[in-house]
Amino acid sequence: MSKSLTDLEIYETFVAAYPEKFGGKEESDELFEEVLEFANSLEGFEDISVLLGRIVMLTHPMKSGLTGRLWHCFGAVEIKGDQVSMTACVTREVPTPKPWCKTMDRPKDECGCPDCGSSLVQMGEPQS
Ligand SMILES: [Zn+2]
Repeated sequence: MSKSLTDLEIYETFVAAYPEKFGGKEESDELFEEVLEFANSLEGFEDISVLLGRIVMLTHPMKSGLTGRLWHCFGAVEIKGDQVSMTACVTREVPTPKPWCKTMDRPKDECGCPDCGSSLVQMGEPQS
């Protein structure tokens, strides 16, 4: 059984689904209206396809038992006792995060600190 979203849920969903459009903007009545107006303007196959493609990326990832890879997905859910299973209609692999330099707190390929092993800067012993 499904239940329609409230205006607030629509607002929060669209802000999350269209970060390049609404992300980082300060919350205001104007933004709320802008988001609801945008949601109201969607129509047709193309808009629905884009919207659902974005919604699937908001789902909590599930781990494949076979490969260990993470997937965003949605589909029909079946609950039998304490077993939950899903027949996914849509799956999108979770993008693999870039290797991260914990020392410098930035992506390793943009780093170059000695811990990343690709530094061109050699630290010499202080001259005495
Ligand atoms: Zn580094």
